[in-house]
This record gives sequence, C-alpha cells and structure tokens, in this order.
Amino acid sequence: MSETFNAIVAAEVEGKVKGQLQHLTLNDLPKEEVLVDVSYSSLNFKDGLAVSGKRNICKRLPMVCGIDLAGTVIESASDKYKAGDLVLANGYGLGENYWGGYSQKARINPDFLVKVPETFTLQETMAIGTAGYTAMLSVLMFERQGVKPSDGPVLVTGAAGGVGSVAITLLSNLGYEVVASTGRPETHAYLTDLGASSFIDREELSAKGEPLAAEKWVGVVDTVGSQTLANVIAQTRRGGCVAACGLASGFDLPTSVFPFILRGVILAGIDSVMATMDLRIQAWSRLATDLAKEKINNISRVEPMSDVPALAEQIVAGKIRGRVVIDVNA
Ligand code: NDP
Repeated sequence: MSETFNAIVAAEVEGKVKGQLQHLTLNDLPKEEVLVDVSYSSLNFKDGLAVSGKRNICKRLPMVCGIDLAGTVIESASDKYKAGDLVLANGYGLGENYWGGYSQKARINPDFLVKVPETFTLQETMAIGTAGYTAMLSVLMFERQGVKPSDGPVLVTGAAGGVGSVAITLLSNLGYEVVASTGRPETHAYLTDLGASSFIDREELSAKGEPLAAEKWVGVVDTVGSQTLANVIAQTRRGGCVAACGLASGFDLPTSVFPFILRGVILAGIDSVMATMDLRIQAWSRLATDLAKEKINNISRVEPMSDVPALAEQIVAGKIRGRVVIDVNA
C-alpha cells in the first residue's frame, strides 16, 4: 500500500461542504507535471470561506483547500523546474479549480509556480502569502497611477487583517503617511509598529455616506468593499486611486458616478488570482526588497494544519490579526 499524507479536503458532508483533515496517497493527486513536497501554506480570507463552507469557493469536489503553498520540488516532468528547487504558488484557482496547498504533497502545473526569491525562506513566503502579495499588487497599482508619498495620506481599510497589515508595512516603508481603519482598537499598538500614523474606527466608514465627501486620500487600499468602499471612493482626492481588493463586509458597491466624473478618481481592481506571471515576479521581487524581515515576523505566526478548520471560522469572523502561516507537516 502506498504511503499516506495529510490534506484538508473540502467535500460534501450531510448536504454541507466543509474542509476536513484527510489522508491521501500520491495516486490521489492530479496528473500535473511538478510534484512538490509542501512545507507551508497560509490562511487567507478565501480559505476561511472555503473550509468553513460559508461560500461556494470550491468549483469541484473533492477539493484540496489552500490558495497558496511553498515547498521543494521532488520530481518534475517540466524543464522549467528540477528536484530541489524552492517554489511557491498562489492563485490561478488553487483551492478552487485545482488542488491547493493544504497538503503535504501537491502536483502542480509548472506555469503556476514562481521560484522563491533568495532573500526569503519558505516560511517567510507564506507569512506574506496571497494576502501580502495582494497588498504588493495594490502598491504597484498606486505607483502605476502616479500616487506618490509626497501627494498626501493614504488609507488602508481592514487594517489589522492580512492584506491590511502587509499594505501598511509596505506603504509606510515607502514613505507614505498611512491612516489605518480598523474595528479593533486593541490592534492600534500593533498597527503603529507596522507604520500606521493615525486611525479611523471602521464604523465611521461603514455607515451610509454622501456620494461626495471632503477630499482626504490620495490612495486607498480597500479590503472591505460594500458601503466602506463607496465611502472611501467619495473621500478620495481629485485624481487619487482606490485599489479595490476585498469584500470582508460585502461584495456590493452602493456608489455613484460623481467621484469618477467630478474628481477623476480611479477605481482600480486588484486581481491576484489571474495576475500575469510578469506581474507576479515583479511583486515578489519588490516584496523581497521592500518588506523588512523583522516586520514579516511581527505580522505572522505559525499554526499546524490540523487547526485549519477552527482558524477558518476565526478569519471569516474577522478575528485573525495579521497573517497565519500553516505548517502542513504539523
Ligand atoms: P482578513 O480576515 O485577514 O482581514 C480582513 C479584515 O477586514 C479584518 O481583519 C477586519 O479588519 C476587516 N473586517 C472583517 N469583517 C469586516 C466587516 N464586516 N466590516 C468591516 N471590516 C471588516 O482577510 P485578508 O486580509 O486575507 O483578506 C481581506 C480581503 O481581501 C478579503 O475580502 C479577501 O477575500 C480579499 N482578497 C482579495 C484578493 C484579490 O485577489 N483581490 C487576494 C487576497 C484577499 P479590522 O479588524 O482591522 O477592522
């Protein structure tokens, strides 16, 4: 009998889809070209939705959950990778369409893999993970739209979460004045340490507002969506850029055209899942230069894969601070 390994597999149990720890063999894995000995994955909001079954994330079942992973190539039928290479993957439908990272072994399409930048350990790449890489995509979007630190303050919503924590760290390191919106005052010291200079209670942004409000932000990284996104668009300065990357409070957007046609506000969507390989490589190499190692450690903690079902409930409830690395071998 072939050796078994552990994975968190989403399957239908009594009419509900939930992710649970299961034992798989190599024969269970899909027929992809690169076999990876996975060391770490991470906990992202989407993982929380998938494992808890709160939303229909998995496009087919059974599905190994986990939208990202980092590990070592064991064998490869592709000339892009060889045994011993350190690789990471995120997005491209991992954990949704393709078996993902909550697994001690994974077979992956080589086109989904990125070589781990030399500055990072496997654990550090997953401390950043999909959330941190999405934060970097948002920063790159600011730069493409010409939003400069000298232009004025930027706002990060959902500040104490994964995307928010990394966004604050990156923006502050690049010299931006960063205002953080959080619903958890107990995280103020943590967020100050990451680089936030002042705070807005998230309640202030979630109440229904005017279509146009006083101009405050030259850039916004919004992870919350819904009324909060509408309000921050209304508060964005002429020509400023709102990077819309999340839906922690909802996927609707009750806004008007006024901020766009009267102030030229740019609403820029951030899609980490299908970002081009060029953009991924650019994002990971900028993370390697722009994110201090000690900050990565401050933001993250490591938890065993067996705890993923409980952690999934916590992240969906907005109770996780920063980033959680998942040790798939613990
Ligand atoms: P986290 O759960 O770590 O962070 C989300 C934060 O949002 C929470 O910590 C909390 O921050 C705030 N929040 C939670 N619930 C609410 C609510 N009901 N109303 C207002 N604020 C709330 O998740 P991630 O950082 O991993 O992801 C953030 C969002 O970005 C998610 O919606 C996720 O799906 C999305 N995302 C999108 C990607 C893309 O490709 N576009 C890639 C990665 C993530 P606080 O306690 O500080 O208020």
